[in-house]
Amino acid sequence: MTHQYPALSTDQKKELSDIAQRIVAPGKGILAADESVGSMAKRLNQIGVENTEENRRLYRQILFSADSRIQSCIGGVIFFHETMYQKADDGTSFVDLVKEKDIVVGIKVDKGVVPLAGTDGETTTQGLDGLSERCAQYKKDGADFAKWRCVLKISDNTPSSLAIMENANVLARYASICQQNGIVPIVEPEILPDGEHDLKRCQYVTEKVLAAVYKALSDHHVYLEGTLLKPNMVTPGHACPTKYSPEEIAMATVTALRRTVPPAVPGITFLSGGQSEEEASINLNAINNCPLPRPWALTFSYGRALQASALNAWRGERENETAATEEFVKRAEINGLAALGKYEGSGEDSGAAGESLYVANHAY
Ligand code: 13P
Repeated sequence: MTHQYPALSTDQKKELSDIAQRIVAPGKGILAADESVGSMAKRLNQIGVENTEENRRLYRQILFSADSRIQSCIGGVIFFHETMYQKADDGTSFVDLVKEKDIVVGIKVDKGVVPLAGTDGETTTQGLDGLSERCAQYKKDGADFAKWRCVLKISDNTPSSLAIMENANVLARYASICQQNGIVPIVEPEILPDGEHDLKRCQYVTEKVLAAVYKALSDHHVYLEGTLLKPNMVTPGHACPTKYSPEEIAMATVTALRRTVPPAVPGITFLSGGQSEEEASINLNAINNCPLPRPWALTFSYGRALQASALNAWRGERENETAATEEFVKRAEINGLAALGKYEGSGEDSGAAGESLYVANHAY
């Protein structure tokens, strides 16, 4: 028979669930600005900007200096380690700049993916060593939530049961360590969109992966009310010849979530996974209009789909900074509406907002 040794006090649980609720309050989602130095190189190269610490600071400043309009639509921002300790031009730390707007600060704590030997190119995510100490320090420095990304891929032979089990377990171990340090873990088992598979196959795999994740979280005594889930939407593979409507994507996504994610989880914050900005907003809106009961907040935690237009508008020029910030605010407001199921669509499928942001075998 199993026995229970309480993992968290009543006060610790309350703190965690209050943080999670603040991040996914109605109409709010997350800005994922935690690209590693390597991922920033790819983003900045696209616009002809050198990947220096100063340029990364200038770019993040564009996002974090958005005015109070983002207070109603951004509940949390995920930082990369370097960004936690950078400052705006006027000397205000980025952490304070974000907190002034009543936005919760988060931090990416994983150390990237590594191969699982003997599999068909599958991976696990490393970073558990010293994680408790790092979480304690980040909490002191102003972070109240964290992100850890695991990656699974769909092919004829994958995901393997080893990859499903190993990634579920490492996510649960990470979540447990975060909660012990007063940090809300975002649990991210991303299933990549690479491949020709159809919507049904993605739904099936998403259900198997999420079921394993919630079994592992239960085994590790993780307090679900103090967690958030960051999954992929259920979409067809990038190279699938069949096209599906946002309503079909929404139905497949909500069905998979209803079968696997307990209602105790306060919020599900989707990654954008290479969808265009407009697609990511329209699909989120459809998810929030899906005619099935939805016991969790369903919102965004977008990286590419919140930043692509802003990056394009900036191009590394001081005089473009305000215009770039405006592009970010626009996408944030649109996604805030989509999180409420109130976004009508902009008809902008042809402009920058309609451009695919897909990258094969995406790293973060
Ligand atoms: P995208 O929205 O660009 O997929 O990234 C979100 C994220 O944080 C992935 O870990």
